[in-house]
This record gives sequence, C-alpha cells and structure tokens, in this order.
Amino acid sequence: MEKYYDVVIIGAGPGGIYSAYELMKLRPDFKIAVFESGNPLIKRKCPIDGDKIKSCISCETCSIMSGFGGAGAFSDGKYNITNDFGGTLYEYVGRDKATELMKYVDEINMTHGGEGTKLYTTAGSALKKRCIQNKLTLLDASVRHLGTDKNYIVLGNMYDEMKDNIDFFFRTPIEKVERKENGEYEVIFKDGCVECRDCIISVGRSGSKWMQKVCQEMKIPTKSNRVDLGVRVELPAVVFEDITNDLYEGKIVYRTHKFEDAVRTFCMNPHGAVVNENTNGIITVNGHSYEDPELQTDNTNFALLVSKHFSEPFKDSNEYGESIAKLSNMLGGGVIVQRFGDLERGRRSNAKRIEEGTVRPTLKATPGDLSLVLPKRLLDGIIEMIYALDKIAPGTANDDTLLYGVEVKFYNMEVSVNENLETIYPGLYCIGDGSGVTHSLSHASASGVYVARHIADIR
Ligand SMILES: Cc1cc2nc3c(=O)[nH]c(=O)nc-3n(C[C@H](O)[C@H](O)[C@H](O)COP(=O)(O)OP(=O)(O)OC[C@H]3O[C@@H](n4cnc5c(N)ncnc54)[C@H](O)[C@@H]3O)c2cc1C
Repeated sequence: MEKYYDVVIIGAGPGGIYSAYELMKLRPDFKIAVFESGNPLIKRKCPIDGDKIKSCISCETCSIMSGFGGAGAFSDGKYNITNDFGGTLYEYVGRDKATELMKYVDEINMTHGGEGTKLYTTAGSALKKRCIQNKLTLLDASVRHLGTDKNYIVLGNMYDEMKDNIDFFFRTPIEKVERKENGEYEVIFKDGCVECRDCIISVGRSGSKWMQKVCQEMKIPTKSNRVDLGVRVELPAVVFEDITNDLYEGKIVYRTHKFEDAVRTFCMNPHGAVVNENTNGIITVNGHSYEDPELQTDNTNFALLVSKHFSEPFKDSNEYGESIAKLSNMLGGGVIVQRFGDLERGRRSNAKRIEEGTVRPTLKATPGDLSLVLPKRLLDGIIEMIYALDKIAPGTANDDTLLYGVEVKFYNMEVSVNENLETIYPGLYCIGDGSGVTHSLSHASASGVYVARHIADIR
C-alpha cells in the first residue's frame, strides 16, 4: 500500500464517488485513495431473501447502507434536481451553482448507463392546482428516476472507470483522522495508516456517530440537526397513478389543522417494494422500486414524515428518533405494519386482518399497533394528511391502506464548513449526508463534484 496520497476520501457513497470521479478527470496527476467500511459493489448483498431469512439479522456491515455506492446503491435512484429539498447545499455554493452541479451529475449518470431513463418535472403540472385547492403544497423539482437496477449499472460503470486510477480499500473503516504539524493529515485504520495533503470525509448517515466523534476529538464546531419521523404508506399503485404517471414522485406538504405541523410525502416508489433499513442496529422502514417492469409490484409506497427540531436543554434529535424506532423494534421485533382502518378504529392489526385486506404487503413486518409507538401529535398529523391526500388521490384513506412504522430520517449534526465545504482545518473537507448539509443522492453527489473542483483548482 502507498503511504502518501494527494487526496484521501473516506466513504464510497455518492459524495465520495463523485469527488473521486471528478478529481480523476481534472487531475490525473493526483494520487487518490478511497477508504470504505463496506464491501465492493458486487459483494453487496442483503441476506433477507423473504424465505429462509425474512428480517434483518444485523450483519457486521449492512449491505443496504454501506459499501461502494453507499446508502444509495440499492436505492430507487431518484435524483431530484431542486433546491427545494434534499439538502441545503445552495446555502454554501449558491442556488445557480447547486443546480448546475446537480445537472452535471445527471449528465454523468446518463453517460454511464442511465441513458433512456425519464426526467419528470413539476413544471406546468395540473396537480399543483389540485393540491392548493386541498390545502396541500406541491414542491418544485425535476426528478430523474434511474431505478434500483439502472442505478446499480451506473455505479458499476463508474467503478470500472475509476478502479485502475484510484486505490480503493474496502472493508477498511477509518478509525481516526489526525492533523499533522505540517498541516497534512494522517488517516488511521485498524492495521495501519496513510498520509495525505487533502482529506474528504463523506461518511453518510451510517457514519454519523463516527463523524460526531471526529468533530469532538478535533474540536470541529457542529450544530444539532432535525429528525424526521413517520410511517411508510403502501397502497394499490392505481390510487396514486395520476400523480406518479405525471411526476413519478410528488413532494407534497400538508400543514396540519391541529398543531400546524408540516407533514410531507417522501421517497415515493410507484410499483415499488417496502424494505427494512438498519441504521446502527436499529431497524426502520424504507422503500424502493425498479425501472424494469418485470421487477415491479402492484403497489406504490411513500413515507409521510414530520420534522422534529429540539432546542435547549435537549439537543439530540437523533436520539429521540432512535428511541421511538427502538420502541417499535421492542414491540414488533422490527418494523410494525398496521391497516389504516385498524389504526382509525383504535385496534391493532393482526395476521388475519392483514391477510383479509386487499393490499398485499411487500415487506414481511409484524402486524401491530402504531399508536403505541408514535407520539399522538405525530400520528394525528399523519392521519390528517392521509385524509388530505385522499382528496387528490381517492382511495388513500381506505381501510386496507398499509402503514409501516417507523420510518425515521436521521440527519447528521451539521458540521461547520465554509463556502468550500472545508472545515476549520484547511484541507479537511466534509461533504454529503455526513456533513449534515445534504440528505439526498443529487445533493450528496453535487457536493462531491464541488469539492473536487475546488481542490483541483487550488493545488
Ligand atoms: C433504501 C434507501 C433508499 C433511498 N432512496 C433515495 C432516493 O431515491 N433518492 C435520494 O435522493 N436519496 C435516497 N436515499 C438517500 C441517499 O441514499 C443518501 O442521501 C445518499 O446516499 C448520501 O450519500 P453520501 O455519499 O453522503 O453517504 P452514503 O451514501 O451514506 O455513503 C457513505 C459511505 O461511507 C461509508 N463509511 C461510513 N463511515 C465510514 C468510516 N469510518 N470509514 C470508511 N467508510 C465509512 C459507509 O459505509 C457508506 O458506504 C435512500 C437511502 C436508502 C437507505
């Protein structure tokens, strides 16, 4: 192994991959290394097969969250080109720049296997008016839907292009980053260390605790962040067809009557499947869908989430989200599923009621009662929103609509970075979801390109 690199990148999610790719293109003279705690793409496989292994067995490294491609590898590959959601990169680089970077990422995806996929847009959509008439707001965006299958192909092609020019080290979690007296960095892992001039940290959500530790050890200032909590809704795809055919994903926000909380739809997967997600040993729910019609289901799923921010004396929003997820894990042994009709009648769902329902669950979850898990305020908001959505997509509030809980979007604390996404230490950058600045594929990837261009420019 080389002992010295111009740039070391920690984490091979979209942020790390796009920074590596752009650096390779702009500065072929650089020696670059990428350290990743998970597996190479081809070795990533979640053991849940729905047959012998039905639910999460907490593998040493979670193939859904870690490895080449990061949390995005088996994602639905929805690249939202917008500054309205998905992160606050625009606050650092400006709105036009952020949009340009996201479009550039889209171009790279299109030349690496994504060609032919559809770009949906809210511009001129009739849904906007229908939403406003029903106290809902449709956010503006263009969405490229690669699909889980094409997303995988794009990642594979990018790896093939990089592997001979960049040193990749898989199953090598970085333990520590130390700043040396000469202003360069030592990047330490279990069996050794390397030195580098610039270090880009892009450890995503799965690296959130590690990132917190690094910030504490290096005295890098941070701000607490929010946590989004809610459920994943699954219903017959026809119910949402008007929205999904037109937009693929509608980002819709509802302001609740009772508490004036904002509830929003998130990660819509037409003809998709609901999946487990394991973050630091806590099992939550998520969803994805395939571009290939052969792999599609008859259901559509999406999350309904409420954001919680905390102020003094309690600052740890993630801890709050984790506690609620742990409660569902305690009661259900993992994710709980409940029919909307059962929730409304104040009774738990059981296997018989789910079986008798018209919506076939795509995830094996434990039938139960979400009202024993989610705080009343959150659940009331979610129920209100389901009725509001029923007005634009009749059938949403049907008894057999399935709710899986809990879905939690953990946001990393926000690491203090400047307009170059550089920490208080020159040459130490923090990007992607691990920085708290981004929460999406497009923003994380764009942040990688941005930092790569900056480093290529100044060195
Ligand atoms: C099931 C699922 C579906 C999703 N669908 C979408 C979607 O359709 N659209 C969208 O915009 N977003 C989606 N997301 C979110 C999206 O995947 C993330 O926003 C994105 O991957 C963030 O990229 P990142 O590079 O910042 O971090 P990540 O993708 O999380 O990558 C970070 C990498 O760093 C590695 N790492 C962590 N700590 C260390 C360490 N100490 N040393 C070395 N390596 C380390 C991890 O193993 C991981 O591979 C989805 C997420 C999931 C889980």
